Amino acid sequence: MKVISVVNHKGGVGKTTVTFNFGAELVHREYKVLLIDFDMQGNLTKGAGIKNGDKLKDTIAHSMDLIIDGNTCEPGILNTGIENLDIVPCNVSMADTKLKLQLAMARELVLDKVIKNIKRKYDYDYILIDNAPTIELDFQNSLVASDEVLIVTNPDIFSTEGMASLLREYTKIRMYFNKENLKIAGILINNADGRTNFTRDMIKAVKTIWKDNINVFDTIIPQSVRVKESQASHQPIRRYDKNNKVALGFSSFTDEYLSLQN
Ligand code: ADP
Ligand code: MG
Repeated sequence: MKVISVVNHKGGVGKTTVTFNFGAELVHREYKVLLIDFDMQGNLTKGAGIKNGDKLKDTIAHSMDLIIDGNTCEPGILNTGIENLDIVPCNVSMADTKLKLQLAMARELVLDKVIKNIKRKYDYDYILIDNAPTIELDFQNSLVASDEVLIVTNPDIFSTEGMASLLREYTKIRMYFNKENLKIAGILINNADGRTNFTRDMIKAVKTIWKDNINVFDTIIPQSVRVKESQASHQPIRRYDKNNKVALGFSSFTDEYLSLQN
């Protein structure tokens, strides 16, 4: 079972979109996938078609509360409507959990404990964690619980600017928590409007700056209005319009990701 944190300190770059669609692609390749919504906005939960997400009690936050209070937990896993693609939902109740987390014992290890409980009981091939746009305590929890980090960015200045601080946190977590095996799967550039020179220049810049230290995926996910349409119909883009350029993008990204695994 491999746990992957989908991250960027900035909102709106496509973390949730990538988590859902990458998950669906892995399922298409016959893997069993669990998505964890780890953002109190609950966009992944809603996007995956989970009804009444705001009212759900059995969220990832609830499981963390149980661990913080010294109990075991059995996370409420829901099916997304796609076979082998499940989700642990999240909603605004996470706000209270984040406050409790500040004072919890071993506060960076709480999500890891939740995921260990999942691992004991289920046989997922991949767990994908959709993170909030922070590099705070929840981000630290996510990385401690993960085997890999997938950085999603956009070809613009603001999305790539804070990357150095994100990487500093990553390095610290590896060091403090003996996570020598935690690695960066790579940087995935999403939402690229390939027609503009600016976009092309930004893609080149991301590759030039990072390629010596971090894998930058060759596949670039283009921009398409179909993404929002597919989200409104609670479907991965491959189900909504399988020949769309973004659907093809996620398919070739997944092939590229898998080809880099040993
Ligand atoms: P994050 O989780 O990083 O905040 P989201 O996945 O919610 O980002 O995406 C932010 C917005 O951008 C959403 O409205 C989504 O529909 C849109 N979006 C994401 N990726 C693409 C894309 N490749 N093409 C068009 N719109 C996109
Ligand atoms: Mg999101």
